[in-house]
Amino acid sequence: MSRSVVVIGGGLAGLVAARHLADGGADVTLYEANETVGGRVTSQTDAGYTLDRGFQVLFTAYPAVQRELDLDALDLRRFAPGATIARPGKRSVLADPLGDPTAALASLRTDEVTTTDKLRTLALRQDLGTRAYDELLDRPDASIREWLQEWGFSEQYIGNFIAPFYGGITLDRSLSTSKRVFEYTFKALSDGDSAVPAAGMAAIPKQLAEAAADSGATIHTDEAVTELRQKRRHAVVVTDSDRRAVDAVVVATGPRPAARLTGCESIPTAGIGCVTQHYRLPDADPLDTGRRLLLNAGGTAPNTVVPMSTVAPEYAPDDTVLLNATFLGEEAINTASEHLATQTRETLSAWYPDRSFERLEPLRTDRIPFAQFAQPPGVHESLPDVRDGGRRTYLAGEYTEWSSIQGAMKSGRKAAQAVLEDH
Ligand SMILES: Cc1cc2nc3c(=O)[nH]c(=O)nc-3n(C[C@H](O)[C@H](O)[C@H](O)COP(=O)(O)OP(=O)(O)OC[C@H]3O[C@@H](n4cnc5c(N)ncnc54)[C@H](O)[C@@H]3O)c2cc1C
Repeated sequence: MSRSVVVIGGGLAGLVAARHLADGGADVTLYEANETVGGRVTSQTDAGYTLDRGFQVLFTAYPAVQRELDLDALDLRRFAPGATIARPGKRSVLADPLGDPTAALASLRTDEVTTTDKLRTLALRQDLGTRAYDELLDRPDASIREWLQEWGFSEQYIGNFIAPFYGGITLDRSLSTSKRVFEYTFKALSDGDSAVPAAGMAAIPKQLAEAAADSGATIHTDEAVTELRQKRRHAVVVTDSDRRAVDAVVVATGPRPAARLTGCESIPTAGIGCVTQHYRLPDADPLDTGRRLLLNAGGTAPNTVVPMSTVAPEYAPDDTVLLNATFLGEEAINTASEHLATQTRETLSAWYPDRSFERLEPLRTDRIPFAQFAQPPGVHESLPDVRDGGRRTYLAGEYTEWSSIQGAMKSGRKAAQAVLEDH
């Protein structure tokens, strides 16, 4: 008889776990509390606009992304490398500081960043190029800021480019996050692209869910697990409409519900949030940043403005432009939507004094109090192991690796392998 396994949670970690378990011959049932799978990676389509929940992108070079996804089928729309550094009255394109050394040299004239910084960036790229991804999370740790200072980068470079760019990735503009996250994402950006699927980020979990179902997993949405009991010979999973005794359980919820369900104390429960506001600009004239992010070097709110419909024209009707702006920090979560929109209008007007943003219209505001678990230096050493959930319970989720699509997918595969090894 095949072993029976319940997966709790249909985010990226749970979906990957379900597929590998089913491929390994297990009888798999996945319960997802929400109406759709995807967890933190979701999108909605409304009146011709595709709005991802929060601004997030897929790094194509992530090893788990390469392994778990059919990237061709996702029909990716790629960002141009680099970014536009913006401040009142001035915009400078930093062509490709990480990927293509020749483009980086071509952009040497950008006076936001010194020549020494660019040469150090190339040296850093070479150094990381010699290392395997897995090694990066085991290296000695420090905050991103301390580590870049150690490398000799100028405060100008750190403030104008790194703080808004990596602050956008880590949701922490102070750069107090672990430098391991910086190294991993820096290497991934050097090795590949950042992109969104033409149909929105939700296409990623949709593809994973289809693969899990094709492998034989059964997925129940809108069905939360309310209780998990661990017995010697089996585990019992309780939902509002079901109660099931199984050989093993993979808890692939976010960290807080996982801590509640399992009682595992090493699950990190501190989170970092952000707010992303989506806007329609009712003229078809895109911003001159092309497919690059705009980084706010002259202030902090918003941290970035992203020309979504320039990157992915499918995200908006033909005659309009879709932008989004992300605000970092606790304060943003409690700021009124209209005030956030005013901040974006004023910031864009300062960056583009010749254009009017009066008609910039907010479409939706995503307030996300827990977007990533907090990753101060050293945190990765204390994260729980896949087998720390209890007798027949296995942990999956980014919080067992590091906060990212890569961490989530890798954790799902590891949890599935552990179950298949043990049962
Ligand atoms: C705004 C934002 C921006 C981000 N940007 C990026 C980025 O650019 N690149 C990147 O790599 N990563 C990014 N991330 C991080 C990445 O999205 C997450 O690390 C990853 O999606 C986490 O996946 P997960 O499966 O571990 O957890 P989750 O996505 O949290 O999935 C957990 C699932 O469990 C379900 N669940 C919870 N409790 C129960 C229960 N009791 N019963 C049943 N189901 C339950 C939840 O509904 C959820 O669907 C971002 C995240 C956010 C929110």
